[in-house]
Amino acid sequence: MLKRLEVKTSSRVQLVDITSHIKSVLKSEDVSTGVLVVYVPHTTCGLTINENADPAVKDDIITILDKLVPLQGEYLHIEGNSAAHIKASLMGSSITVIIESGALVLGTWQGIFLAEFDGPRKRSVLLKIIPDQHS
Ligand code: ZN
Repeated sequence: MLKRLEVKTSSRVQLVDITSHIKSVLKSEDVSTGVLVVYVPHTTCGLTINENADPAVKDDIITILDKLVPLQGEYLHIEGNSAAHIKASLMGSSITVIIESGALVLGTWQGIFLAEFDGPRKRSVLLKIIPDQHS
């Protein structure tokens, strides 16, 4: 079962909470237990799980990543978006979430974010649901 979400980002750097989108895809699949792999087939955006209760957390992540990997620097990549490539690798391009009782096993404050570093763009998020053999 491979599903695809389209996510439109609205600024150059942005963390987009995609938890509810993923939950609604899972609901339509009727899987009780298993594993969900979330993957982005892109080189300048990533995925991360972090707090989605206080929006200041994602703002802090963006601020510190910008300090760690400045937009302008001694980069060799001629396209001019090396910072985006590096930040995408820091975040990673996939995450894995456990499915139990038909729901994602996430902590109370956890959400799944697409981390845009070279937007605004239209991004694809691939969802691979792997049911347990006996569920
Ligand atoms: Zn590039």
